[in-house]
Amino acid sequence: MKLETLRDLLIEQVGDIYDAETRITQALPKMAKAASSPDLKAAFEKHLAETENHVSRLEQVFETLGEKPQKKACKAMQGLIAEGEETIKEDAEPEVKDAALIAAAQRVEHYEMAAYGTVCTYAKQLGEKDVLKLLKDTMAEEVATDKALSELAESTINVEAM
Ligand code: FE
Ligand code: FE
Repeated sequence: MKLETLRDLLIEQVGDIYDAETRITQALPKMAKAASSPDLKAAFEKHLAETENHVSRLEQVFETLGEKPQKKACKAMQGLIAEGEETIKEDAEPEVKDAALIAAAQRVEHYEMAAYGTVCTYAKQLGEKDVLKLLKDTMAEEVATDKALSELAESTINVEAM
């Protein structure tokens, strides 16, 4: 489809995030399984539940825009998840692996924050208030997850890995 307007671009970008979020729902259970720290496992499981909701919010975004949900293969997320899988398989001390899992997960969160930041701006400029609200709610959970992972890393995981 030819992109003619910012609205077309919004729909395309939401399709990219929709693909990315769906992939994350498949990756997070593996991350949780690979984590040794109960707190880290719990953080991944909490964000898995949130991510499932991110997928539904994106479906609501498509619906609000009067569009059929359509995925656009997100190669960047494929790559980030492939790196996470390498981390899972790595021969490492449990505490060090936990620190590495956080490193991989935070790359994913920052990618999402960048993507949501862009589509929030488009929705705002297009006057799509309901869409903006849905996207902002998810953005807030990505930011909170990133912060929680940083706190976990700094307070315990990295310290134990030393
Ligand atoms: Fe998400
Ligand atoms: Fe996330």
